[in-house]
Amino acid sequence: MKVIKIGGGCLNGKKTIARIIDLIAQRGRGDIFVVSALNGITDFLIASMDAALEDEANIAKIISRLKARHDLVARHLIRRPKEAKGFSQDLAKTLSKLERLYYGLNFTGKISPRLRDAIVSFGERFSAQLLTAILSSRGIPTSYHMPQQIGMLTDGKFGDATANIPATARNFKTNLAPVLGSKKILLIPGFFGVSKNGDITTFGRGGSDYSAAVVAAAMKAEILEIWKDVDGFMSADPKLVPCTELIPILSYEEASELAYFGARILHPRCVEPVRTRKLNITIKNTLNPDVKGSLITARSPRLKTVIKSVAHDCNIGILKVHAAGVGARPGILAEVATCITNNGINIKAVVTSQTCISLLLAGEDLTPGAAALKTLKPKPFRRLEPVEDIALICIVGEGLLRQKGIAANCFAAVAEAGVNVEMISFGPSRAALYFLTKKSNLKKAVNAIHGRFFTCS
Ligand code: ASP
Ligand code: MG
Repeated sequence: MKVIKIGGGCLNGKKTIARIIDLIAQRGRGDIFVVSALNGITDFLIASMDAALEDEANIAKIISRLKARHDLVARHLIRRPKEAKGFSQDLAKTLSKLERLYYGLNFTGKISPRLRDAIVSFGERFSAQLLTAILSSRGIPTSYHMPQQIGMLTDGKFGDATANIPATARNFKTNLAPVLGSKKILLIPGFFGVSKNGDITTFGRGGSDYSAAVVAAAMKAEILEIWKDVDGFMSADPKLVPCTELIPILSYEEASELAYFGARILHPRCVEPVRTRKLNITIKNTLNPDVKGSLITARSPRLKTVIKSVAHDCNIGILKVHAAGVGARPGILAEVATCITNNGINIKAVVTSQTCISLLLAGEDLTPGAAALKTLKPKPFRRLEPVEDIALICIVGEGLLRQKGIAANCFAAVAEAGVNVEMISFGPSRAALYFLTKKSNLKKAVNAIHGRFFTCS
């Protein structure tokens, strides 16, 4: 049995959904599918919270737009009246639950984390119901199973939950395993689970990959397939480098490092649940389903050049916290990091010297991060310096730490291209080396390194 995750990018209009349905029908018998919301629906649910807060009159419009979007697909793709009627009843019930939540939000006048998670989980509920009806109307025995009903248990942390896999596995054994069948298709909405108190808790944006990994681990699937509209991980971003190659095999470590970067191939947390169980992940391109995509596994073959990919991230900034004697003052790092974290800001990486703590943040977090630190009393630093014009480049390959000359080779290429390196982080991961340059140098630097490690044909 496989667990297959279908991303929102593949679930757009009736045409793309029709293609996915054909693929599921041909290849998915006996498997479990974890589905994302239709493209754009999660964003819409989030944006609609403000609209609902502002004016109660907006709620009816929100609900009717959601209805129209799903109805349109249903009308075109559900083939039999029986399933059409069933879906329309399902949709009405689910919409009315959601409507009550939006009214609750308007009434209480605030978006609590609990209400927020409950509301954003609806996109996945709709899509699971819709796909189930479409497949059933083709005579394929299909059923959907809501995470809160089958016991997909989380730690209860709103917006960034972690699954309790042993407990989930026990619950699935009772609630999911008995309904599996070699001819059947089971659908589970991704993105959320339920806490022990019964609260809906989401795994963070893009979290359906993580859901699918949890289901695969809990059900001991033979493999986790991620269905997307690309072949897999590439040796660099094709928008930046003209001659990139697909990476056929990656280790868990390499995939987790790469997952943090631009291409959005995989959610960074997706590897966690499968790694200890040695379960493989493959990326499958739904536009090209017979092409072998990237395989993520425990051991990946070591290339002669070691490096598998040159990735980058432009949406980044450094918040430099200048303070004297950083290395000699107990607690300063914790104080700074705690303050940033308590303001809901994620720290991507930290590099320190004796006179400065450099916090790597997402570009949009730079100003709120600085504002948060300014509230600290007594002020533990001398000066804050946000650096915006910066891009991060990362070379990834298992073994780069141990192989002589990799770093030298990389930086020689960068230097030959006339690019200055602003900051380096090397050592924390055995599979990645990071450094920063000015944004204007990004393309030059990435091409120089890629050219050094890959022979472009
Ligand atoms: N629908 C959710 C999001 O857009 C989860 C996912 O698609 O993975 O973040
Ligand atoms: Mg999505």
